[in-house]
Amino acid sequence: MTPACPKPKAKKKKKRKKSTPRTVIMNKLDKLSAAKCREQGYCTICEKTSSRLNAHHYKGRTYKGVRWYQPNLICLCVQCHTFNPFFSAHRTPEAFKKKMIDIKGQKWHDDIQEKATNHKSWKMADLEKLLESYLD
Ligand SMILES: [Zn+2]
Repeated sequence: MTPACPKPKAKKKKKRKKSTPRTVIMNKLDKLSAAKCREQGYCTICEKTSSRLNAHHYKGRTYKGVRWYQPNLICLCVQCHTFNPFFSAHRTPEAFKKKMIDIKGQKWHDDIQEKATNHKSWKMADLEKLLESYLD
């Protein structure tokens, strides 16, 4: 038996992360940096051009120093990013890392590593500057 007049569902407020000027700018940077990365137009690993491309963060997004640093963003097809269980950035991270160093070189890795670990928190003004550089 269904009640004739069901109680309206209690309004659930979706918990949203507070949007502050800082998070707004960070979200914009996420979008713009990923879009720029995908402009490469082909997968860095398998060189496919047809499939949907993702921007993978070589050093994870939690490393704020390289979150929007183009060398840290790797243009990948969805297979090489997450789907391929035998080799992909998220399923076989160690093998992926090795392959990336083969492709890009140890210097590239060391540069990212250094920027990722030595980064102090972003100042708002610096975030704004970075955003401007993406909008140019
Ligand atoms: Zn690929």
